[in-house]
Amino acid sequence: MKITAVDIITFEVPREIFRDRRLLVDGIAHQTLTKITADEGAEGYYFGGSGHGDRDGLLPDQRRLLLAKGRSMLIGEDPFDREKFWHWMWVSKTPENILSTLDMALWDLQARAFGVPVHKLLGGCREKVKAYASTYPNMGTPDEYAEHAVVCKEAGYQAYKIHPYYFADPVTFEPVPGRPSHVKADIEACRAIRQAVGDEMVLMFDPWGTYCNYEEALWVGRELEMLNFAWYEHPMPEYRVRSYERLTRELDIPVLSPEIAAGSLYTRADWILREASDMTRIDVLRGGITGVKKMVSIAEAYGVRCEIHMGGFGNLQILGATSEDTCEYYERGLLAPGVTCNAPPPYLNAICDPLDSDGYVMVPQGVGMGYDINWDYIASHRVPTDV
Ligand SMILES: [Mg+2]
Repeated sequence: MKITAVDIITFEVPREIFRDRRLLVDGIAHQTLTKITADEGAEGYYFGGSGHGDRDGLLPDQRRLLLAKGRSMLIGEDPFDREKFWHWMWVSKTPENILSTLDMALWDLQARAFGVPVHKLLGGCREKVKAYASTYPNMGTPDEYAEHAVVCKEAGYQAYKIHPYYFADPVTFEPVPGRPSHVKADIEACRAIRQAVGDEMVLMFDPWGTYCNYEEALWVGRELEMLNFAWYEHPMPEYRVRSYERLTRELDIPVLSPEIAAGSLYTRADWILREASDMTRIDVLRGGITGVKKMVSIAEAYGVRCEIHMGGFGNLQILGATSEDTCEYYERGLLAPGVTCNAPPPYLNAICDPLDSDGYVMVPQGVGMGYDINWDYIASHRVPTDV
């Protein structure tokens, strides 16, 4: 089999933003579908690929780069030689999200050609994954966070992760771009949530790297230990690795990082050797399914848990091919009062991650990534572009 074409289909979707503590539709955004075609009728797809997961379409410059790289590298090649392409892309300094998008379209292509879901091609391990409810940041008062945690518990979630206030004031709710951390308010919210949900519910905390110094991060970490939180995620900027080494040595609660540091498995393997965190973290836009698969193996070999960042089809497929002993949870969200993530975007007929009453999501069982695509919507909302 030989690759014959690499294309991007760009189309309009409603732009959703979380503002004023509500999810609003604010104009139009562009979603992208990367499509790789081979002879014998084989096709592979990947939705999105920009900054934050499979709902963010590639930007014009990213589209140009993906098509230039993808066409020069792939056309005429065997689409099943993903490992070779993955190495070529690292050697040629391809941006991680572009590398990842091409890698995943190729995984989708081979799984479709074989008539199996991607996790079966990887080597299936489980059909459902425990989920945690992952909140939007800037969601309300401590009492409102606590009420929301109770709603999630009643919906079946066994675990709840708090994104607290950053770049917004927790009292006035006004934007404060220069003041990312609000330590006292964060601790107050965590206490209110623990009190509301009781001792059994698993709680995690993620201030998204906004604690500006080691002392703030240590202070909150001590409070989380007293509240019996399960992990403390990405507390400080991740380029201050020495601060992470100190924090991980000092605290008993597991520190979970790096999340957004560049360098895929290479950076994360180094963090393990430096003991800069207790648990590691990666997602399919940081090296593709090929890169995450390698990282999970490294983590498993060192007895380090590897939590998968974000939701979506690609992350759920990799979870279906990993053990709960290494990759325990699926990140479901982002959620907020009234925002349940139970409806698909308009270009899909079904979500990837319906939640069951025990707080688990099923791994998609359709072929490839498991997309159920609404081709009529895409055709009628297509955007003519140069690239
Ligand atoms: Mg995070």
